[in-house]
Amino acid sequence: MSMSTLVETRDAIRLKQVSSREWVRKSLARIERLEPQLHALVSYDGDRAMAAGQTIDDRIARGEAVGELAGVPIILKDNLCTSWGRTTCASRMLEKFESPYSAHVVERLKAADAVIVGKANLDEFAMGSSTENSAFGATRNPWNTDCVPGGSSGGSAVAVASGMAAGSLGSDTGGSIRLPASFCGITGLKPTYGRVSRYGLVAYGSSLDQIGPLARTARDVACLLKVIAGWDLRDSTSVHEEVPDYPAVLDKPLGGLSVGYAEECFGEGLDAEVRKLAEAAIEVYRAAGAQVRPVHLPHLKYAIACYYVVATAEASSNLARYDGVHYGLRAAAPKDYVDVYCSSREEGFGAEVKRRIMLGTYVLSSGYYDAYYLKALKVRTLIKQDFDRAFEDVDVIAGPTSPVPPIRLGEKVNDPLAMYLMDVYTVSANLAGLPALSMPCGLTGSGLPVGLQLMGKPFAEDRLLRAAHEYQTHTDWHTRAPAVSEP
Ligand code: GLN
Repeated sequence: MSMSTLVETRDAIRLKQVSSREWVRKSLARIERLEPQLHALVSYDGDRAMAAGQTIDDRIARGEAVGELAGVPIILKDNLCTSWGRTTCASRMLEKFESPYSAHVVERLKAADAVIVGKANLDEFAMGSSTENSAFGATRNPWNTDCVPGGSSGGSAVAVASGMAAGSLGSDTGGSIRLPASFCGITGLKPTYGRVSRYGLVAYGSSLDQIGPLARTARDVACLLKVIAGWDLRDSTSVHEEVPDYPAVLDKPLGGLSVGYAEECFGEGLDAEVRKLAEAAIEVYRAAGAQVRPVHLPHLKYAIACYYVVATAEASSNLARYDGVHYGLRAAAPKDYVDVYCSSREEGFGAEVKRRIMLGTYVLSSGYYDAYYLKALKVRTLIKQDFDRAFEDVDVIAGPTSPVPPIRLGEKVNDPLAMYLMDVYTVSANLAGLPALSMPCGLTGSGLPVGLQLMGKPFAEDRLLRAAHEYQTHTDWHTRAPAVSEP
């Protein structure tokens, strides 16, 4: 079954064929029908969304100019601050946290007249690959509810795949947009580090985190990226680079695309069906006239080890702020003042978050700093240099997003190392700061989606999206939707 894209939704509203309120009503009906099975959301506010839709409809009726995403229902990962409702990060620690301000990307969406319907479930503080680490219960994959949707932006991906919203925002520290996009059969983009302001994104690994869009097609993703990208005074790592008109770029001729094939992206532990589908996708490029060239990324084999040192080190530092004093949960009956910290953190954080804090504190401790953290930083540079060299020869590097198709709930949740290994192909783009996307490239024999990852040069999101769009003009995997999403 095919579902409306974000662009179709937006155009129908603009042309007054369907009102924003009708789309919002449809979103809310889907949410009410599917939430009991899927648990994609942490919260949603139907009245607020209907009122916002009404405002847009009135403005359109009066002939006023409206924004790029006028009236379009959007869902936000619940680690993006909103000045209304709660921002929980799917943690007991922030269960009742009300942010005094909205994230930069939320302001941008509102300025574009998007209608924010609700906030999506995630792995606690975005730490995980399956959305099973949410303190409020796991999210399920709409293609098969026995399977996980990927993580950590699992709720954001499920919301789009099941038709609860036309698009969503997630965050990606080591694959958290791309992995769920892959597992849910949609398109998701992690922009270049610095492309999108992180102001108002609850920090996990600050040198790795980026906010990005999830939607059905490369064109939809391009529309969302255009709205959220650009410099912001409040994030000193956001970059003064011109924001191209991403959707317009898609209609320009592709002109000599070269696709890199790295053997290291088809390594040990890769599922045979996933390999076949990813290789077939690369053949689609070849058949469409692209040059496919071998590239080498010799340090990629250290990416997972490097990532889980850098990310946990940064997490341990970022999460020090949850002390029962400044933010969030405070233990009910602390014995003394040290116990305020200890018990609040003991009660507020889940097991995976604690594991990360301990690991990160260890690699940063004096005596181990040089052996682990400093070494990881050096490896990070080597990985970045591998990409610099590879991108001298090619525009994009293609390979599977995940080594495996969607796993079953509970399959890896008690085996952290096995879970971490699902990020084997995604973390390197974060370590190197590169833009990378995942788009659907087929279904397994049991009908589960598989994603193709494309990585690009820094700030070449336009090229990356253009390449993804090319694939989507030759294939129709991006039009497939799970049966539960049928009206
Ligand atoms: N799975 C990775 C982790 O747990 C990536 C998560 C993310 O990108 N936020 O760290």
